[in-house]
Amino acid sequence: MFDLPARSFWRGTPDLDLSVLFHGHRAANPLGPAAGPQTQMAQNIALAWLAGARILELKTVQIDDRLTIPRPCIDAQNVVYNVEWSQELRLEESLREYVKGSMLVDVLRQAGALGSGSPPGWDDTVFDMSVGYDLEGIRSPQIRAWIDAMKDARAHVDALRREIPPELSRYRDLGFRTAISDQVTLSTFHGCPAGEIEAISRYLLDELGLHVTVKLNPTLLGRETVDGLLHDVLGYTDIGTRPEDFERDLQWAQALDMVDRLSEAARARGRTFAVKLTNTLVVRNHRSFFPAGQEVMYLSGQPLHVLTLHLLQRFRKARPQLPISFSAGVDSRNFPDCVALGLVPVTVCSDLLRPGGYARLPRYLSRLEEKMRTLGVSELRDFVAKAEGRGEEAVCATVEAGTLRETLLSALAAEPTDLEAALERTGRGDLYPGLVTTAARLNTPAIVERATADPRYRAAANRETPRKIGSHLRLFDCINCDKCVPACPNDANFVYEAEPLSGDFASYRVEDGRAVAAATERFEVRERHQIAVFQDFCNDCGNCDTFCPEDGGPYLEKPRFFGTLEGWQRWRDRDGFFVAGGADGVRVWARLRGREYALEVDRQSGRGVFTDGALRLEIDHPRRLVLGAEVLPGASPGHVLDASAYAAIALAVDGVLDPSLANPVNSSLSEQEPA
Ligand code: SF4
Ligand code: SF4
Repeated sequence: MFDLPARSFWRGTPDLDLSVLFHGHRAANPLGPAAGPQTQMAQNIALAWLAGARILELKTVQIDDRLTIPRPCIDAQNVVYNVEWSQELRLEESLREYVKGSMLVDVLRQAGALGSGSPPGWDDTVFDMSVGYDLEGIRSPQIRAWIDAMKDARAHVDALRREIPPELSRYRDLGFRTAISDQVTLSTFHGCPAGEIEAISRYLLDELGLHVTVKLNPTLLGRETVDGLLHDVLGYTDIGTRPEDFERDLQWAQALDMVDRLSEAARARGRTFAVKLTNTLVVRNHRSFFPAGQEVMYLSGQPLHVLTLHLLQRFRKARPQLPISFSAGVDSRNFPDCVALGLVPVTVCSDLLRPGGYARLPRYLSRLEEKMRTLGVSELRDFVAKAEGRGEEAVCATVEAGTLRETLLSALAAEPTDLEAALERTGRGDLYPGLVTTAARLNTPAIVERATADPRYRAAANRETPRKIGSHLRLFDCINCDKCVPACPNDANFVYEAEPLSGDFASYRVEDGRAVAAATERFEVRERHQIAVFQDFCNDCGNCDTFCPEDGGPYLEKPRFFGTLEGWQRWRDRDGFFVAGGADGVRVWARLRGREYALEVDRQSGRGVFTDGALRLEIDHPRRLVLGAEVLPGASPGHVLDASAYAAIALAVDGVLDPSLANPVNSSLSEQEPA
């Protein structure tokens, strides 16, 4: 589904309860994609959900929805850098994508897409909005209307309901979720004054009635600590920070005061408040990956994991009760430790950009499940209590010496462990959350120390770049490794099958008002297995190029299909195709090496017409044969039409339209001819 193999779907585990509460809402597990490239489009949401994510942080929206972002914008060669930030869609388009994503999840649940036998609540899912970046923008009527529509999406759900195609009409009356989200994570610019962060948070709490998480920057650690960890401990001596980014950002003392006031304000309004650790770290752009003139870039991945753990430790010492959401270099190996730290949610971005993409998520959960089984726990909070062997200490810190403490210590040692049941039997179920919070705090120093000493976070272990083999991609045929398909966060790249073809195709030249066959050109496609790109899903992030062993970039070199004729016409500097038609025939608008062509094929007769506006070829389409050529009015003498262009277009279009492999083109082929 959306190119994610069924073996990578997460189906829950009947004997283990991984559920958590995030702002009071139950999610079947704490894992999710962070607000970013994996949460912009509806198919991103469905993909993450199928692979096990149950807390989805939707990509940040802001008032300026006509951003020009440098391309490429993601450098995931080893340590991950980016220069992208908020949504690249208009506000109304983002809303539509998020509501569609939520509805897709509901359809997948109802359709039993993940099979039967899953435990109750295995599909409970939380959507977390993210807004940026300043008070004026967030208070604007447009952003307010956007948030209101996410809180009550009935009108949008009903509109989309009507778009469900006839063959899926059984889902039109589904009880779709209409309150998509009542919680928001605030993202602010580097340098946003403390007073403004607090004012925005109060607006979101007081006037919009939302639960609020504030995303904080790693600069809170101070430049000396950040540089010490980056350079001296981890060995990333090439990464340079700038003093001004630390001076302008929120300071530690300000952060603590603000957190205290906002926690209290949230409590007073029956809402909850949390912080998210962390945003990316702004660093000097010392590489040549991003377009020239890009002075800074934003660091994530392995080094950020260690930095953020140190910031977490600082918070844990200063404000042990503060709920913390975590996103920084999370991967399947450190995910169980993040859970043992009591962090909710634990979200991921960089790791999903690597080969495998969303299919990397199930491993996060299976590693956690393995550890839970080893410890003899079936519930996530009991896992926190036992993960680092500090459970006894947590019990003793929570409960005075006496019978209750003894009962709890016995329950802790028992397998399966069930601390909550033991507390409830004694009428003290109220102590359980505090006990777990204490255990999470006690777990922190050992986990931070372990990660800091772990060689895998160090520069020496993160220098390799994906291997290139020295060949350049072409329209057809490549080494067929398929890395570009899951590496695309938007599922824009897809596989199709083409009929291999080898033949000589003539060029036709206008001479004395007639079409004359000139030189022939060899055209050869050797492989059935081919790659194409759905342009409407591609945002030119460049990630598929990073992992493709050949040069050129799949998103630039492979056949590019547009979802609308208007899109094909707008992107005049891009080669590509738009296809319309139905059972009777197809029409293709094509641009190859900058030249425009049209192809019409009648499915019944197999006859086709191929033209570049000056010459017109009669085609036997199934046999790829040119039957005749004629000159159209206005053609210039000497004009040449190369019939191998027809062969290339025919091969790509026929392959992509083959319904045996679903893709965004053949599943949405317009029956309506565009005007
Ligand atoms: S385009 Fe590149 S990444 Fe994609 S299958 Fe071909 S060689 Fe592999
Ligand atoms: S096709 Fe490539 S460039 Fe386009 S969105 Fe996907 S990964 Fe990014």
